[in-house]
Amino acid sequence: MTRVVTMTCPACQTPGRIRSSAALSNVVRVQYFVCRMLGCGCQWKVLAESVSILTPSALPFAAEPLPKMDEDERIALFVSQKSAGQQADMFAPSPPR
Ligand SMILES: [Zn+2]
Repeated sequence: MTRVVTMTCPACQTPGRIRSSAALSNVVRVQYFVCRMLGCGCQWKVLAESVSILTPSALPFAAEPLPKMDEDERIALFVSQKSAGQQADMFAPSPPR
């Protein structure tokens, strides 16, 4: 399932769209959003950061630069995805390395 990443406008709460983005590091991107509401015109800056790993990479040469997600947070995410009708696979066993 692919979903479009968006943020709501801080001025009018209409979903915005990304005008441009740039990597600040291998785990942080800066994104510049513009509001989709005609007449609003708000533009804002977002920092998107990878902060933890839900499921580690199956690649034998993969680096693991981030800490694993807290177990309570993983369970809360699973419950929210399940209640939203989304398929969560984070508890599926990892493939053998
Ligand atoms: Zn707006």
